[in-house]
Amino acid sequence: MHGIRIAAAALLNTLYPAVCINCHARIEEQKLWLCGSCYDKLNPLPEQHCPKCGIPNEADECDNCAVNGYVFTQAVSVFLYEGPAKSLVHALKYQGLHTVSGWFANRMFIAAQMEPEIMQADCLTAVPLHRVRHRERGYNQSELIAAQLAKKMSKPLLKKALTRRINTGTQTQLHAAARRTNLLDAFVSGKDDVSGKSVLLIDDVFTTGTTVNEAAKVLLKAGATKVYVMTACHGL
Ligand SMILES: [Zn+2]
Ligand SMILES: [Zn+2]
Repeated sequence: MHGIRIAAAALLNTLYPAVCINCHARIEEQKLWLCGSCYDKLNPLPEQHCPKCGIPNEADECDNCAVNGYVFTQAVSVFLYEGPAKSLVHALKYQGLHTVSGWFANRMFIAAQMEPEIMQADCLTAVPLHRVRHRERGYNQSELIAAQLAKKMSKPLLKKALTRRINTGTQTQLHAAARRTNLLDAFVSGKDDVSGKSVLLIDDVFTTGTTVNEAAKVLLKAGATKVYVMTACHGL
């Protein structure tokens, strides 16, 4: 009985930590997994951003789009990847705080409703992890978000549209050029058929856009009519 109580307390502490996951202050008024002050510092993507790739403070046909040759139709992100939003992603990815995925999915659903084309996508899929990484972590954080967003949008989630072929290591530690080379042929199409379908591709963070672009190339090659991208955060 004692052991169960300890396990329950540990679980409760994971679900509802008593300290803010961003500034580690003891929480008086809990908002999400953040203290009130950090919650207020969550920065949405500014209204002025590139309509295709979402990079802040850029107009149509931004340099980022020109350099990277994006094949997806449009990428939408909700928050800037900094401060408390970054802490939320880290908690979801590395601290097993699964419930953050539902909160991100809610916010992404609100953003999706502003985009009629995205609301008409036929199905959703998530950027996969390599199976070794998936086994280590026990879950794919992007797939958790995608599953809950798909439910809200009443669309099917294709879990096996893509397979990650190479264990690409930690992308964030590599420079842009190295990331591109590193990702070459990282994805292949999977068992789920996307031909003739428009696909909404979900990932946690849009940084250079290389990852989602490589995944989008494979989906288009497999016959997808269009690929839209949604991420919880934008990291540029
Ligand atoms: Zn805080
Ligand atoms: Zn752009």
